Amino acid sequence: MTRIGHGFDAHRLVPNRPLILGGVTLPFTQGLLGHSDADVLIHAICDALLGAVGAGDLGRHFPDSDPSLAGISSLEILRRVHTMLASGGWSVANIDATVIAQAPRLGPHIPVMVDNVAACLKVESTAINVKATTTEGLGFTGEGHGIAAHAVALIHTR
Ligand SMILES: [Zn+2]
Repeated sequence: MTRIGHGFDAHRLVPNRPLILGGVTLPFTQGLLGHSDADVLIHAICDALLGAVGAGDLGRHFPDSDPSLAGISSLEILRRVHTMLASGGWSVANIDATVIAQAPRLGPHIPVMVDNVAACLKVESTAINVKATTTEGLGFTGEGHGIAAHAVALIHTR
C-alpha cells in the first residue's frame, strides 16, 4: 500500500533565538519562535508523515502544552514520528520539502539537513529532497517576519 501526505508550517522570526532548520543551527541575527526548537522544516515533514498515515497533525501528538517538549530538538520529534510509522509497518518512500525564507541563504546547509532527515527516517539521503526559495520580498516571509515550509511525503508498506 502507498499513501501520500502534505505538511505546512510557519514560525515567527525573533531576536535572541537560535535559527535551527533541518537540525542545522544557522548563523543569523534572529531565530524562530516556538515551544520546541521551532524547526519549521522538520515540523512540515512531521505533518506530512502524520498526514500520510491519517494520524492528524503534530499539535495533536506533541502539544505546545506539554512541558516535556519545551526546547526539544525537532529531530527527536521526527524520530518519534518515524517510530509511530514503523510500528504500523510503514516505510518512507521519499520526501520533498521547500523552505520559504528571504534570508539567510540556505543552499550551502541543505546537504546536512538532508542527511539529518534521512538518518531520523532510516532511509538513504537520495529519498529526501530539500529546496529553498524566497518570495521576492513579498509577504511575511519576504519581509523577514517569519519562515515557512511545505513538505510532501510518500510512504509505503513492504
Ligand atoms: Zn512548527
